[in-house]
Amino acid sequence: MNAAALHDVIVVGAGPGGAAAASFLAGRGMDVLVLDKADFPREKVCGDGLTPQAIAWLDRLGCAEEVLAETKGCIKACDLYINGRKTLSAGFPQRTLYPDFAVLLDRRRFDHILLRNALANGAQFRAGPVVRGVSRERGYASVFARSGGKSEEFRGRIVIGADGVSSAVSRAIGNRLKTGVMAVSVRAYFTGVKCEGAPIKVYFDRSYFPGYGWLFADETGFANIGLGYALDPAFPLPEAPGATFRRFLRRELAEVLSGAERLGAVAGGSSAFFRPDKIFDERVMLVGDAANQADPLNGGGIHKAMESAFYAARAAEAAFAAGDFSRRTLALYRRLWESETGADWQTAELFLTIAKNPAIRDFCLLVLERIGRLTAGDAGFRAFAAGVFSGVLAQRLAVSPAALRRAFPKDLGAWQAVLRWHEGERGLARRAAESFTRAGGAALCDPMPQLGWGFEVASKALRLAEREVAAMAAPARA
Ligand SMILES: Cc1cc2nc3c(=O)[nH]c(=O)nc-3n(C[C@H](O)[C@H](O)[C@H](O)COP(=O)(O)OP(=O)(O)OC[C@H]3O[C@@H](n4cnc5c(N)ncnc54)[C@H](O)[C@@H]3O)c2cc1C
Repeated sequence: MNAAALHDVIVVGAGPGGAAAASFLAGRGMDVLVLDKADFPREKVCGDGLTPQAIAWLDRLGCAEEVLAETKGCIKACDLYINGRKTLSAGFPQRTLYPDFAVLLDRRRFDHILLRNALANGAQFRAGPVVRGVSRERGYASVFARSGGKSEEFRGRIVIGADGVSSAVSRAIGNRLKTGVMAVSVRAYFTGVKCEGAPIKVYFDRSYFPGYGWLFADETGFANIGLGYALDPAFPLPEAPGATFRRFLRRELAEVLSGAERLGAVAGGSSAFFRPDKIFDERVMLVGDAANQADPLNGGGIHKAMESAFYAARAAEAAFAAGDFSRRTLALYRRLWESETGADWQTAELFLTIAKNPAIRDFCLLVLERIGRLTAGDAGFRAFAAGVFSGVLAQRLAVSPAALRRAFPKDLGAWQAVLRWHEGERGLARRAAESFTRAGGAALCDPMPQLGWGFEVASKALRLAEREVAAMAAPARA
C-alpha cells in the first residue's frame, strides 16, 4: 500500500470551527486537507442565530458580506418572557467591539459559505470519510477513517479536531465525552409566523429551566423555533425534550403559530458544557464543540468555534515556525483561549451550575424576573443585562463588583419597581420561597446530589474568585 500524502494540517469536520481553521491556515499558505463525513451543503440542527460576535468573526474570515447577502433583515431586538409573561425587551448594546445586530441563516447555507471560503483560501476538501481515530507517529499524525466501506489513512503534521460534540478526535486523545452537563435541544422551521414585537423571543419557564425556548424569525414570517435545556447526571430529565417542545408550542406560541405551517420534521441535537480534560495534545488540537466551547449561558457556539479556530491556527503557525509539534508548543492554543475567553466561560459555567439544581429553579426564575423588572426604567442597565446574556459584553462583568456598581440603576424609582408585585407575580415569589423548603427536603431525603451540587458551586465560585484576585493583582505586580 502506498503511504498517504503528508499534509501540513488535517482538519476533521467542516462546520464553522473546521472551516474557519482551514481558512486561517490555508490563507497563510499551509497545505490543509479538510475531512467531513458529510458532503456539503448539509443539514445541521441549530437555532441558526448568528450573533454580533459571529458577524465580527465572519468579517475577519472575509465572508461577512456573502453571509449577510443571504439573510433577510438585521435583528436588533429581543423579547424575554418568564413563565409566560413578557419581562424585558432589549437590543444589543451599542458601542461594543461588535455590530449591534444578529442575523438568521440556516446552517445548510451558512456552513457551505464557510467551507467555500476555506476552499477559496486554498484548502482541499474530502467528503465522506468517517473518522474513527488518530495516532501519533514519528514526524506526523495519522487519521484513520472509514469511507465507502473501506479503511483510509490521512497524514498531517498537525490534526485539528473540529468534529463536533461527539468528536472522534477528542476521544482519540483520551477525553471522555458526555460526562458532565449537557444540553439537549429540539427545533423546527415554520412559515407564516405572526411575530409581533422583536423578531427574537426567548422564553424561560420552570418546566424547561435551566434552558430556554426560542423563536428566531425573519422579515418574511419564516422562523426557527426550538427549545433546549441543560441536564446533569445528578438531576435526571423529568420528560423527553419532544414532549416539552410540543407543550411549549401549544402554550407559549399558540397565537404566534395560528395560521403558521411547519416545514419538515422536528429535529434534535446536543451540546456539552463541561471542560474536557484536554483541548490539545501532541500534534492535536480541538476546536468548537469538539472542545465543548459553546457559551454555557446561552448555548451559542458558532462564534466560539470560529474564535477557537483562530487561536488554534496561531498555535499551529508557531509550531511550524519552531518545527516543534509537541504539547509544549501547542500549549499556546490553550493559553490564548484561556486568556481571551476563560474568565467569561467560567462565569457563565458558574451560573449554569447554580441553575441546574431543579430544587431552586423557581428562585432562579424569580431573580431573573426581578432583574428584568429592574431593567425596565434604565436603558443602561437593560443594555448591560442583554449584553452579558448574549455575550456581547464580557460575561465576567456579571461578577465584578466594580462593573455591577457602574451598571446598576442609580435611580431609586427603578429599585422601588423591583419591590412592587403585580397581579400573577406573587405565585412566582411563593414558589421561590417554597423552593428553599424543597431544597432542604431534597437534601434530607437524598443528600448526595445536593451536597455534590453545593460543593461544585462553591469550588467553581472559589476558582473564579481566585482568578479575579489574580487578575487584579497582575497590573500591580507588573
Ligand atoms: C439545537 C441547537 C441549536 C443551536 N443554536 C445555535 C444558535 O442559534 N447560534 C449559535 O451560535 N450556536 C447554536 N448552537 C451551537 C452550534 O450549533 C455549535 O456550537 C456549532 O455548530 C459548533 O460548530 P463546530 O464546527 O464546532 O461543530 P459542528 O457544527 O457540529 O460541525 C462538526 C462537523 O464535523 C463533522 N463530523 C462529525 N463527526 C465526524 C467524524 N467522525 N468524521 C468526519 N466528520 C465528522 C460533521 O459532519 C460536521 O460537519 C446550537 C446547537 C444546538 C444543538
